[in-house]
Amino acid sequence: MTTVAAYAAPAAKAPLERTTIERRAVGEFDVLIDIKFAGICHSDIHQAREGWGEAIFPMVPGHEIAGIVSEVGPGVTRFAVGDRVGVGCMVDSCGDCENCRAGREQFCTGSGMVGTYNAVGKDGEPTYGGYSQKIVVDEKYVVRIPDGLSLDVAAPLLCAGITTYSPLKHWGAGPGKKVAVIGLGGLGHMGVKIAHALGAEVTVLSQSLRKKEDGLKLGADHYYATSDPKTFEELAGTFDLILSTVSAPLDFGAYLGLLKTGGALVNVGAPEEPVSLNLFSLIGGNKTLAGSMIGGIAETQEMLDFCAGHGIGAEIELIAAAEVNEAYERVLASDVRYRFVIDTATI
Ligand code: NAP
Ligand code: ZN
Repeated sequence: MTTVAAYAAPAAKAPLERTTIERRAVGEFDVLIDIKFAGICHSDIHQAREGWGEAIFPMVPGHEIAGIVSEVGPGVTRFAVGDRVGVGCMVDSCGDCENCRAGREQFCTGSGMVGTYNAVGKDGEPTYGGYSQKIVVDEKYVVRIPDGLSLDVAAPLLCAGITTYSPLKHWGAGPGKKVAVIGLGGLGHMGVKIAHALGAEVTVLSQSLRKKEDGLKLGADHYYATSDPKTFEELAGTFDLILSTVSAPLDFGAYLGLLKTGGALVNVGAPEEPVSLNLFSLIGGNKTLAGSMIGGIAETQEMLDFCAGHGIGAEIELIAAAEVNEAYERVLASDVRYRFVIDTATI
């Protein structure tokens, strides 16, 4: 066991504070990672405030982890000391069920996917996430960060990157396709960059025009404010694909009206309250409303290689650990440009 400095929420809705946690001894197939950077995902805030239901405290959030391997177990074959690596939203699964075998470990039906934090590992101990200086992870849940990507801008790819890459690929974002991204936050800005790199014509649907200049620089071709009712008239029937990254309940019926016949709206946002929908907005036009949750390990590696190949990292505000509570407030106020990343040396 190793004692490691971390930032934790001691209880639901309590501010995060410095503490120490124990990491398990490096097992046969484990790698010990010196965490350098940890992104702040809105999911961290939902969970630290028990917005999704009862959670485990103290909670060390963080599932956008980038660091350097500092020790490997004797059975490790894929990594060596000094490797640049990442860990995303999961640190274990059964490895044997239909979903694990198909590379969809996030939907493990065997032992269940073990979250990087706010979960209980196979050893019966709570898992603690990336707002800490070291983590021990089975090599199967570790990915390689390509040399072309700096660790700080790579960290957010481990959740925001894969969560947008996976549905954009699955639903065919590419040349000749009109794709809209709702919400220009952490996920949304990655969605814009990735959809643009895939060759799609990209539109941002944001609450206001205040981030328009940024959105266009990130790769969007068009930018509209959803607070303006004219947006919904002008864009009716426009898109092949809409990706919603919004953290709050939305009027999905209104957005389904922006799809072409046969188009799909894929939601990745995870608001704390349910939404209601008039199903006629789906029936009229053979439309699809779908969901998507992160992505598997192999697909996460594919996404990192794709991003490195296209020179894509996240736009980040690097912060000291002591600024995490302030950063949470800014994320809640949609005032993030476009991902806060903790420099873990400051913990
Ligand atoms: P974020 O950085 O806070 O971005 C969310 C964006 O949604 C905001 O920047 C804002 O964009 C827009 N928004 C916020 N409140 C809104 C409202 N009331 N009405 C309309 N738009 C609103 O959050 P994130 O880290 O990208 O995460 C987004 C959501 O995805 C969260 O719920 C998170 O838990 C979830 N998530 C899901 C997965 C998955 O696997 N499915 C993975 C990671 C995160 P504008 O200012 O541009 O309007
Ligand atoms: Zn996340």
